[in-house]
Amino acid sequence: MTVEMKNKDIIKIQNLEVFAHHGVYPEERENGQNFYVNAQLYTGTREAGLRDDLNLSTNYGEVCHFMDCFLKQHTWQLIESVAEQLAEAVLLQFERVEALQLEIRKPSAPIGLPFESVSVCVERGWHTAFVAFGSNLGEKEKYIQDALKELRSHHLIRVGAVSDILCTKPYGGVKQDDFLNGVLELRTLLTPWELLEFLHELEQKAGRTRELRWGPRTLDLDIIFYDDEVIDSKELTIPHIDMDNRTFVLEPMCQLAPWYRHPVLNRTMVQLLDELKSVSRKLL
Ligand code: ATP
Ligand code: CA
Ligand code: CA
Repeated sequence: MTVEMKNKDIIKIQNLEVFAHHGVYPEERENGQNFYVNAQLYTGTREAGLRDDLNLSTNYGEVCHFMDCFLKQHTWQLIESVAEQLAEAVLLQFERVEALQLEIRKPSAPIGLPFESVSVCVERGWHTAFVAFGSNLGEKEKYIQDALKELRSHHLIRVGAVSDILCTKPYGGVKQDDFLNGVLELRTLLTPWELLEFLHELEQKAGRTRELRWGPRTLDLDIIFYDDEVIDSKELTIPHIDMDNRTFVLEPMCQLAPWYRHPVLNRTMVQLLDELKSVSRKLL
């Protein structure tokens, strides 16, 4: 399962029938046909169940009507798009839904052979990421505040807690001005690669250039964690490869989530910071 689902409660909707106009062929878009939606909504039901209170749950009737309207209001060529867009819309509209599995069936697809049904299934959900920010060139505070504003206005990102901003000495041996550093927590529907791309856009907006490794920069945004995912690829390493050697990452992390456990090193943030401090004491 790609989406982290701490909550195992599910509300299931089976074969909701929606007459809509999706398809590659013009006649499909003109005449329309029946689509069937299967949805599994990961949404906590315990509180609602204990108190018998609909306000504490996700109203499946509202979800069905929302999906019916959404599929009727739009026209896409592909059921891949229908699934993608509908999953996103439901996650944005119903805040108690943490993740969902969605199947869009199209039993009257124009295939020209006998078949029962074709469908596309997707699984989408909210992810939690920690992003480190830093600046040591120009209007440092402003670059950081602008980036926060941009992150807050992205419709697929919900910024949560932001750590205090620390003033720290530069890291990596290059002679340069002091840094402002911190970490923020966010929830997002973006994949790790999409999040990285957006962070790069923000760095570019701040006029970031890359001349020198660990050299001066207007804005640096690094993904520290993305759920418990472990990613090792050319463009992206998660958890951030060097975070356990950086007090300017671990101190803000301890402020936001001291109990958070590094999925590879299997240490909490407090443990990693203690270990780093004791290593640097031994080196002195
Ligand atoms: P460091 O990564 O050691 O803090 P840096 O932040 O100065 O150094 P950059 O020049 O900002 O390095 O980034 C170089 C590349 O690192 C980016 O283009 C990106 O593809 C890659 N990268 C790998 N993992 C991550 C991550 N977790 N967060 C951000 N960038 C990453
Ligand atoms: Ca960095
Ligand atoms: Ca970086």
